[in-house]
Amino acid sequence: MNRIVSKFGGSSLADSGQFLKVRGILEKDARRRIIVVSAPGKRHVGEAKLTDLLYLCHELVQKGLSMEEPFRLIQNRFLEIESDLKLGAGLSEELATFRKQILEGAERDFIASRGEYFSGRLMSRYLEADFIDPKDGIFFDEAGSLDPKTYDRLGRLLKDEAKRYVLPGFYGVDVNGGIKTFSRGGSDVSGAIAARAAKAELYENWTDVSGLLMADPRIVNEPHSLDLVSYREIRELSYMGASVFHDEAVAPVREAGIPINIRNTNRPEDAGTLIVSKLPDVTHYDIAGIAGKKNFSMFSVEKTMMNREVGFARRFLEIFESHRVSIEHCPTSIDSMSVVVASEEMGDKAENILEDIRRTLLPDHLEAEHELSLIAVVGEGMARQVGMASRVFKALAEAKVNVRIIDQGASELNIIVGVGNADYQQAIRALYAEMMPRQVTDN
Ligand code: ASP
Repeated sequence: MNRIVSKFGGSSLADSGQFLKVRGILEKDARRRIIVVSAPGKRHVGEAKLTDLLYLCHELVQKGLSMEEPFRLIQNRFLEIESDLKLGAGLSEELATFRKQILEGAERDFIASRGEYFSGRLMSRYLEADFIDPKDGIFFDEAGSLDPKTYDRLGRLLKDEAKRYVLPGFYGVDVNGGIKTFSRGGSDVSGAIAARAAKAELYENWTDVSGLLMADPRIVNEPHSLDLVSYREIRELSYMGASVFHDEAVAPVREAGIPINIRNTNRPEDAGTLIVSKLPDVTHYDIAGIAGKKNFSMFSVEKTMMNREVGFARRFLEIFESHRVSIEHCPTSIDSMSVVVASEEMGDKAENILEDIRRTLLPDHLEAEHELSLIAVVGEGMARQVGMASRVFKALAEAKVNVRIIDQGASELNIIVGVGNADYQQAIRALYAEMMPRQVTDN
């Protein structure tokens, strides 16, 4: 039988009512055999996320303060689900042991991982499914990246097609046998890894929206949702700040050609967004979406005859490497070259970087600008159409937004513009208004 990996996010598991919905969804399709769970999320606006409470417990203990209050909230959340669903999973003893471990100085990642662990224990009991602990199947290497042996080892743990498995998301094991988590939102990554390890036919990602939106709804009023999008588009959009799906979760399934379906646990009748490797020739919109991020810094050098100076670009880039600052973009022209980095990543190194540039490159002019935003207009369809760039710049000009950076990759998958932080929202609204409403019709 072809199997589906179904990953449920925090809001899909927030209380016993949500657990019921999950079971309903699983019963609708017998191929849904591998269930990956997040920690229970918020039940209502203003409530703390369980994972945040776990991090808080660790922080309080490190500072020698009492963690009783947040720990009580965590414990109650789990015990409430256990008792509502009459699971008798024996969680109170396990939670008591866990409490002791935190007080005795357990590692931060171990503590954070218990949100998913206990969520998985409850879900496996509820579904009468086998519980698979990621510490036995998801491995990190020395450098902290996923060890490829994971696919084989986890695949073997998930091999019985007649069984239903529950796998907690978000963590695995490091080379020393300690628990290590992915970055925040990492259960998406676990789900993708499980799908690949099990050679699943589909990776479902159940959340609380009916698919991905074409722009941030906090900026654009009621943006359209996407029904079909390519891996490449989604990778660009999520990397550029579109939330819902972790940007590192695309690679494992993309390499294996497994489609991803983003679905809404609260509206399971909606088809959601399907992410595929190849889009049909005719899609409904000119572009897939608009996403952006604030707070970048740009270092620009100008030097006459720069294009003739062998090794100039390498020396410029090496300065960033030596300061261990990763580079986001690198727009160039004949006599000038800029490097764009995330300001957070750069920290307080700006002055030292400037000094090194001055010393090693002897530029005619050197400038560092901060408080920049990057906005990406993304869509594979752009490669096939004339005039897309002109629409982007016309829209920005009409909105009186000054464009500081222009960057289009050779793939024509996106056009990236850099604007001042102050113009960020205005620019996104203008771009959305220009690029979205023109639907391509197939008749
Ligand atoms: N619970 C973790 C977080 O809040 C991981 C996840 O939900 O994907 O980041």
